[in-house]
Amino acid sequence: MATAGKVIKCRAAVAWEPTAALMMEEIEVAPPQEGEIRIKVVATGVCHTDLYHLFEGKDKRGFPTVLGHEGAGVVESVGPGVTDFKPGDKVIPLFLSQCGECKFCKCPKTNLCDRNWSSKYHDIMSDPTTRFTCRDRPILQFMGTSTFSEYTVINQIAVAKIDDDAPLERVCLLGCGISTGYGAAVNTAGVTPGSVCAVFGLGAVGLAAVMGCKNAGASRIFAVDINEQKFEKAKVFGATDFLNPKAYNKPISEVLAEMTNGGVDFSLECVGNTEVMRTALESCVKGWGVSVLVGWTDVKDFSARPIQLISGKTWKGSLFGGFKSKDSVPNLVCDYMTGKIKLDEFITHKMSLEQVNDAINLMKTGQCIRCILNISK
Ligand code: NAD
Ligand code: ZN
Repeated sequence: MATAGKVIKCRAAVAWEPTAALMMEEIEVAPPQEGEIRIKVVATGVCHTDLYHLFEGKDKRGFPTVLGHEGAGVVESVGPGVTDFKPGDKVIPLFLSQCGECKFCKCPKTNLCDRNWSSKYHDIMSDPTTRFTCRDRPILQFMGTSTFSEYTVINQIAVAKIDDDAPLERVCLLGCGISTGYGAAVNTAGVTPGSVCAVFGLGAVGLAAVMGCKNAGASRIFAVDINEQKFEKAKVFGATDFLNPKAYNKPISEVLAEMTNGGVDFSLECVGNTEVMRTALESCVKGWGVSVLVGWTDVKDFSARPIQLISGKTWKGSLFGGFKSKDSVPNLVCDYMTGKIKLDEFITHKMSLEQVNDAINLMKTGQCIRCILNISK
């Protein structure tokens, strides 16, 4: 409590410009304002969306920023008007808020809260109304969260309070990748018992989609990746068949059609590649096949033959697995603690915040599923 109301100086990894290595810096974190919470970050995962912003999106207006959006921590202090949180509460920051009052929050069809940072700043993928400064410059908050920092400040509509006994160095994964892939299967695709599914891309998001297909009762789950080292893990989460598109001299959608008598019932694209998005749609069976875009990209248009949709397929996408974030994340933490969903199996590496560039490199070269950075005790 000694720090409440004061500026905190702490360590953070700052992304000063696109494609450059992150720099360890001392930053200043202002006290929380009306409706805001200052959080001591304990652990964070590294997600491909952090790499996307750094290496692919590269919009200069989104820098300098502190990346990281898959964290968990403890409330340090709260701003005026905050009644649902108190210092010491365990929390997960949410890159997608749930204000509970906008027309989207009130509608059961969507989780896209209109008060989220992305409603205004989608193109720069960061919130410029930041509480961070470094070397006298404002530093943006990537996805409104910025978990590659010892402390961060977030509006209470984008924070989930979780079980006091939750292990923060594991449940942090529910802040993005696992909830996203799992929800894309169980919510957005609506995978049904006995169905045949295909998941393209076997990072943490794709593996979580495999887990969702399995928990929803799919009878056959094809795991598709160009990196065959990922197949062993996919088996752990319930995949039954394994395909490397590079091992065939015809499109993988044709291979799938032959193996399934016409195509799969549900396909999920978890790569962020527009060609793979098209392939995933083409891999679905006519009449009722559903294909879901989960991978993130906004740099290219995508295309498909209209007949794909005229023939009765559905093409859709989802953010954060379609979960209404504040309501769902505490329940997902309980699902982990009671064994309904796995988390430990996604974690392949553990490092310190100082090693963040090594962690980024591991993901870039396909050598990890999730690397957890221990930020503070
Ligand atoms: P990752 O890099 O760990 O995994 C991507 C996988 O795709 C790798 O295993 C890679 O080998 C595989 N791959 C690459 N090219 C391929 C191809 N042509 N065919 C088949 N497989 C291929 O990434 P991740 O953290 O699991 O994230 C996956 C995607 O999901 C990213 O695009 C990320 O930005 C996105 N994402 C979306 C949301 C959302 O809310 N929609 C949230 C989080 C992440
Ligand atoms: Zn993410």
